[in-house]
Amino acid sequence: ARRLLLVLGDQLDIRANALDRLDPERDAVVMTEAREEATYLRQHKKRLVLFFAAMRHFADELRARGFTVRYHAIDGEDPAATLAEGAARHPADEHHVTLPGDMRVRDALRDRFPGLVVHPDHHFLSTPAEFSDLREGRRRFILEDFYRAMRKKTGWLMDGDAPAGGRWNFDADNRKPFGRDGPGFTPGRPHSEPDEITRKVMRMVERLFPDAPGSTEGFAEPVTRRAALAHLRDFIDHRLPRFGDHQDAIATGHSTLWHSRLSTALNLKLVDPREVCAAAISAWANGHAPLNAVEGFVRQILGWREFVRGVYWAEMPGYAGLNALGADADLPGFFWTGDTVMACLADGLTQLLEEGYAHHIQRLMVMGLFAMLWGAHPYRVHEWHMELYLDAIDWVSLPNVLGMSQHGDGGIVGTKPYAASGAYISRMSDCCGGCRYDPRIATGPKACPFTTLYWDFLARHEARFRGNRRMAMQMANLSRKDDGELRDIRGAAESLRKRIA
Ligand code: FAD
Ligand code: SF4
Repeated sequence: ARRLLLVLGDQLDIRANALDRLDPERDAVVMTEAREEATYLRQHKKRLVLFFAAMRHFADELRARGFTVRYHAIDGEDPAATLAEGAARHPADEHHVTLPGDMRVRDALRDRFPGLVVHPDHHFLSTPAEFSDLREGRRRFILEDFYRAMRKKTGWLMDGDAPAGGRWNFDADNRKPFGRDGPGFTPGRPHSEPDEITRKVMRMVERLFPDAPGSTEGFAEPVTRRAALAHLRDFIDHRLPRFGDHQDAIATGHSTLWHSRLSTALNLKLVDPREVCAAAISAWANGHAPLNAVEGFVRQILGWREFVRGVYWAEMPGYAGLNALGADADLPGFFWTGDTVMACLADGLTQLLEEGYAHHIQRLMVMGLFAMLWGAHPYRVHEWHMELYLDAIDWVSLPNVLGMSQHGDGGIVGTKPYAASGAYISRMSDCCGGCRYDPRIATGPKACPFTTLYWDFLARHEARFRGNRRMAMQMANLSRKDDGELRDIRGAAESLRKRIA
């Protein structure tokens, strides 16, 4: 071929600018189900199915549009160990790729093809350069600063220069727990029935990766643009109206609640963030969904999703090595099995192992919180994340896990650690009622491990957090504990570590 375009598993956007430039007569696309990508970390079986099935469907779509596609299937006649090896099998004058979502992959491809043309990824609403420009010269640059700039740039939910509804942020309305009666009726998760191509991939994954975590059974993710658009519609119609109110709440046995479950489709680029936000905004304009829900949802995509990507490209490669809290422990083994008597963790982890999904507050305030209080190494927590979550790609997992949830970056993504005791989980969920522990107690047989580890965490890092204004209340509460009480708590934390690890 004259030009060879490498299309990676998270670049399945038929309208991508790099595809636009191809001449189907003379140029070609290469796609590789690289063994290295599937095995450099163990990966959830549903995650393997997601990527391979979506790639195979996309290759068919490209062929149907007249492109020449060189496809290296992992179980085919011409498999390739790495993405570069797949591409190198096909002589070409020029090699092209859209910016990969993982710096490791970009660098490996550049090493192999020194003239590689890396195209900007127009899927996103901002560019890495724009993020750096906005941040330049500011002492503080947090999500809210970036988000407001993006609202002004796009004009979304704007009333001239002012935010629609008079406020930039409706978070304060979006923290309602469910109360005694639980969530009541929930619409449930959207479901895509696997077609023959996907079913074949499911059988292949069970055969080739028998030891990978999870199961292929019950796979229901969208693997085509068409299915992803159906999932978007399902969310707008049935869940968006209540997305805001209970955004931070947890209910045992409910994985989806009013969340969109669009992260895999977005991250594989099956849907575009513009069409997703436009659908939500028009639901508000039509009176179908309230502003607190729509603003909350738009902020996740136009704000957080773009912000963490900005952090990734601005801070890498050094970012991956940050460990501000000097955390060095391994995650307890139950993170891979869900086998623990802590009810909140058992619920979140069981769901995760089953579906490859947990919603934001479970990630941040249950699994992530426990890992941080435990003192787990932040990069290892990110690797665990990459193994089990279907939506994890380096650019989005690393800042969320190492940064937001583990505070390993010392305050780049968030200005303070999301540290809390069992009392937070008790307030936002119904988990504690069914647990053998008591979230109010820090020592003794009924002590909630979150509460024990919370005080131990604050005490361990007292010198660091004392100067953080946003931690002032938590540190004042710590200083109210007398020496004896604190000694008992620290002793309890130590024996907990021995018992669980
Ligand atoms: P919804 O709650 O419906 O939110 C809507 C959309 O907003 C999501 O689909 C997602 O595209 C976007 N979004 C929301 N929050 C974020 C955020 N912090 N960063 C980026 N996008 C966001 N998201 C990923 O896509 N991949 C990850 O690997 C990932 N890892 C995370 C790890 C931790 C520890 C935490 C705290 C968050 C992580 N997130 C990640 C962000 C967020 O939790 C997920 O995007 C969300 O739970 C996906 O489910 P949903 O589609 O139902 O989201
Ligand atoms: Fe989780 Fe503690 Fe509540 Fe048990 S008591 S569910 S461990 S927060």
